[in-house]
This record gives sequence, structure tokens and C-alpha cells, in this order.
Amino acid sequence: MSKKINLKSLSIDELSGFMEGQGLPKYRAGQLLNWMYVKYAASPAEITEFSRELRNRLGEIACIGNLVVVKRQRSSDGTEKFLFGLEDGQTIESVLIPDNDRLTLCISSQVGCAMGCCFCLTGKLGLIRNLKAWEIVDQILGVNRLIMPKKVTNIVLMGMGEPMANFKEVVEALKRIISFIGISKRRITLSTAGLTPKILQLPGNAPDVNLAISLNAATDAVRNKIMPINKKYPIRSLIEACR
Ligand code: SF4
Repeated sequence: MSKKINLKSLSIDELSGFMEGQGLPKYRAGQLLNWMYVKYAASPAEITEFSRELRNRLGEIACIGNLVVVKRQRSSDGTEKFLFGLEDGQTIESVLIPDNDRLTLCISSQVGCAMGCCFCLTGKLGLIRNLKAWEIVDQILGVNRLIMPKKVTNIVLMGMGEPMANFKEVVEALKRIISFIGISKRRITLSTAGLTPKILQLPGNAPDVNLAISLNAATDAVRNKIMPINKKYPIRSLIEACR
């Protein structure tokens, strides 16, 4: 039997094409998006807005991927850590930080990281793999499902991995977070250790979300020691790219 299509892995155009291929009108793609990203449907069978016949037909060829929370830890200051299991057995972390009426989720963009910052445990793993756009986005849906009726209000891409080193999937994830989940770009922060060529590619390619630089030192001498990326892209080039 051929593998089912994960509907969450599809971009809006791919999803429209998929529905069209099933002989369904375009508005069905909008309904499907709403059920996946707002109502957190975990399978086509849960989409009760569709007829039983359509649910069964979709269920035979497609599924809705969901990251599984394998561990949830709460600290005394209210911060919560979620360990998600991925389909290939790898794990990633997201951290929920409550602050008055804000609920900020720090999400991961890679399994492991190649940047090798000396103060970082993820860096010690090396890069295992890039996350797919849907795996980046699904950390938000996975947490929203657990904290209902509350919802994550702000996003920082500051978890495992260097987001700019997974540029294409991160850009696609940003687009989906804004248009499918409905989090404003002003409430999203992309963080980087300083991959300056990628910073320069942001305008025109990615939604203009906030940018944060993980600087950690004010001189090249110190930064070279603790963040190896600085040897390739020193502080001056980083500041120029930001400007
Ligand atoms: S870029 Fe971030 S995740 Fe990667 S090693 Fe440095 S601090 Fe860790």
C-alpha cells in the first residue's frame, strides 16, 4: 500500500492542487486548513464539516501528521518544556514562557545544530537533520491543543537549531504560522547566531518578522572563542547585514 499523504506537509498551493485532484472545489481547501490549524483535527475522520463519504475517501489516501508530546515539564516560574517525538524517532524541544497576557513559545528549527556554540548543549549534538516546515509549525499546534482554551500568542525561533541554516523550511513555516494559525508577524521573532548571507536574503523572501541576534560577546576575540560562526562572519559584517 502506498504511503498516505500528510496534509500538513502541503503548502497552500499544494493543498489546493490536491483537493482539485480529488475533484473537490477550492473552498474545501480552506475548510481543511481551518480544521487542521484552528480546530486541531488529528485525522480526516474528525472533519465533521465534510460528508462521511468525503471523510472516508480522504482517510484512505491522506492523514494529518501530529507531533507527539512525549514529556511535559513545568518549572516553578511557570515555564513549561515540551519534548516532541518525531516520526523518525528523533526528539525536539519547545518552551512555553507565560508573561502576563502573553504566552510565548520558543520553537526548534533543527534536530541538533552545526553551529557549535560552546555554551550550548544542542551544539554538542552536531546537526542531525533539518525540520520540515510542518514540524516547525506543529510545535505550536501541539502546545495549543494541550493548553486549550488558551493559545500561544508569540513565537520565538530560538529553540534547537540555527533557523537561518534551514532557511527554506523556516521561511515556509513563518508563512504558515502567519496565514494559517493567524499569529501576527509583529509577534514572531527569528533568532540567529549570525549567518549574515542568510540575513541578507530575508528581505523579499521571508515575511518581515522581528530579527534577534544571539550576540553573547561584544568583541570578535571573545565571540570567536564561544561562537565559531564569528570566525567566518565577524561582528562588523553581522551589524552591516542587520542594517
Ligand atoms: S546556534 Fe543556537 S542551537 Fe546552535 S549551537 Fe549556537 S546556541 Fe546552540
